[in-house]
Amino acid sequence: LPERQAKPKWLRVKLPTGKKYTELRSLVDKYKLNTICTSGSCPNMGECWGEGTATFMILGNVCTRSCGFCGVKTGRPETVDWDEPEKVARSIKLMKIKHAVLTSVDRDDLKDMGSIMWAETVKAVRRMNPETTLETLIPDFQGIEQHMDRIIDVAPEVVSHNIETVRRLTREVRIQAKYDRSLGVLKYLKQQGQRRTKSGIMLGLGETREEVIETLHDLKANDVDVVTIGQYLQPSKKHLPVKQFITPDQFKEYEEVGLSLGFRHVESSALVRSSYRAQKHIN
Ligand code: SF4
Ligand code: SF4
Repeated sequence: LPERQAKPKWLRVKLPTGKKYTELRSLVDKYKLNTICTSGSCPNMGECWGEGTATFMILGNVCTRSCGFCGVKTGRPETVDWDEPEKVARSIKLMKIKHAVLTSVDRDDLKDMGSIMWAETVKAVRRMNPETTLETLIPDFQGIEQHMDRIIDVAPEVVSHNIETVRRLTREVRIQAKYDRSLGVLKYLKQQGQRRTKSGIMLGLGETREEVIETLHDLKANDVDVVTIGQYLQPSKKHLPVKQFITPDQFKEYEEVGLSLGFRHVESSALVRSSYRAQKHIN
């Protein structure tokens, strides 16, 4: 594709509107709350915020990894802010969030890889917002069980870990990660009794239809309950280029394949992000 080719019409988004959205937007601006929804200018804000769902990032905003698709800054992260759990919990309370998705940068620099902060954040959110349900979208913790156990112990309603792309492209797309290690994380979560597990794939990085279907099979073979499939969009010219815009019909086919494989939920369309409609994935 020529660079910066005009986006197909199904990718053009309307600006978010709605009373609830406007209210939340002004709270977020007033208290300088940190949500992924605003920092990533997510196209789904109107819908998600209207339903009382938002995504928060913990452990700072600098990542030790450098995935080719990701807009988060890479480098040496700041020191851990132990007030962060309280801050996130307070944001969730202020915004009256019914279902919160927590995610983090990767902290390969820390001995516990951030898992203690993860657990503390879940606990703080629960203390201050006993009615709010939670999804934790976790890093791979390099597959170390002790770190994953800390997440399982605090029992989020949903635990997700994104495989992001097909096996063949994993090296190119997320250099410090491994396809099988991510599958192993998902498998371990389930084996330890996590009720709902979830994973996401981005399309348009050069994968074939067969490879996408193979990835769906791999996720199913590791007992994943929910899959999200969306279009990759290049955050800047320094990031991996978009190789294809997947058509709505093709997304629909993947959804049908996923449902026929037995996933509980499959979200598959261009603007799907891994936390889109997250609230319904509890069930
Ligand atoms: Fe926020 Fe995720 Fe919804 Fe986007 S899809 S608005 S990041 S909760
Ligand atoms: Fe982005 Fe996550 Fe990769 Fe870090 S590990 S660069 S936050 S996708």
